[in-house]
Amino acid sequence: MLTVKAIAAPSATEPLVPTTIERRDLGPHDVLIAIHYAGICHSDIHTARGEWGPAGWPIVVGHEIAGVVAEVGSAVTRHAVGDRVGVGCMVDSCRECDNCRRGLEQYCARGNIGTYGSVGRDGLPTAGGYSTHIVVTEDFVLRIPEGLALDVAAPLLCAGITLYSPLSHWGAGPGKKVAIVGLGGLGHMGVKIAHAMGAEVTVLSQSLKKREDGLRLGADHYYATSDPATFETLAGTFDLIVNTVSANLGMDAYLGLLAVDGTLVEVGAPEHPMPVSAFALIPARRSLAGSMIGGIPETQAMLDFCAEHGLGAEIEVISADRVNEAWDRVVASDVRYRFVIDVATLA
Ligand code: NAP
Ligand code: ZN
Repeated sequence: MLTVKAIAAPSATEPLVPTTIERRDLGPHDVLIAIHYAGICHSDIHTARGEWGPAGWPIVVGHEIAGVVAEVGSAVTRHAVGDRVGVGCMVDSCRECDNCRRGLEQYCARGNIGTYGSVGRDGLPTAGGYSTHIVVTEDFVLRIPEGLALDVAAPLLCAGITLYSPLSHWGAGPGKKVAIVGLGGLGHMGVKIAHAMGAEVTVLSQSLKKREDGLRLGADHYYATSDPATFETLAGTFDLIVNTVSANLGMDAYLGLLAVDGTLVEVGAPEHPMPVSAFALIPARRSLAGSMIGGIPETQAMLDFCAEHGLGAEIEVISADRVNEAWDRVVASDVRYRFVIDVATLA
């Protein structure tokens, strides 16, 4: 076993603290990654604070991992020492079910193995990227293409793929009107990616505070959802709405913004259920859908797409001792647009 430095949440209510954790010895197909950067996803906070249920504390979170291969197992063929690589929200799956065979490992019928908060095939609890090193089976390690710096690439491993997958699945592209709700970590990548796909992009944010940024990132239009006139002006407009908000919204109002046959895709995962009226869907043959990250092949395609279009995340790099402060700022929607931990400050 390899003992490595990490930052852990001791319980749902205590601040994160430095600690050490054990990583397994390299199996034949394993890759040891020296983590350089770890993005802070709102899911880290939901999980550590018990908002999605008990977490198995103490827990080390983080599933936006970018680093360099430090060592490879004897049978590894896909990665070599020195390669720039990433790990997202999954570190394994059954690989046998229909979904895994289709490259939809995130929907593994037996449940994918999460980068943190799961039990790995080795029987050990998985621990995430707020840590100096991680050991991952080679098939769940992604290549970070040349041209994407590791710090701006890290958030692509969750925020990037979580938006790329539904935008691609529901056909965002030329002639399509797409709205992104919430301009946070996920939302800002949604704006960049939907714009690069050729869609007409609208941001729906709580206020107009981030309007200049939104337009710079690629939005064509920007509206404040605190203004009731927004919902009248935009009624029946969008082919696709992707909701990234981490808190409950009045869903019927947002469904009313869909055109006939439009789809609202929920990717935000708030703690509490959100009621929906049948009459928000029926009168325009609207669909309400959900989407979870993306499979391994699609995550690689997303990284390649982002490199080709020069899309990295907009980040604020922080030292490890500022993680608690960063979490509070994420919860307060005070992030432009992703905090990334410089893991060297942990070592
Ligand atoms: P984030 O950076 O905090 O962004 C969320 C944004 O939602 C905020 O920036 C804010 O945007 C808006 N918002 C927050 N509270 C709000 C409120 N009370 N009312 C209206 N708008 C509000 O979070 P994130 O990391 O992007 O994650 C967003 C959500 O997606 C989380 O619930 C996370 O767990 C989930 N998630 C899901 C998946 C998946 O696979 N489906 C993957 C990753 C994350 P404005 O300031 O622009 O209004
Ligand atoms: Zn995430």
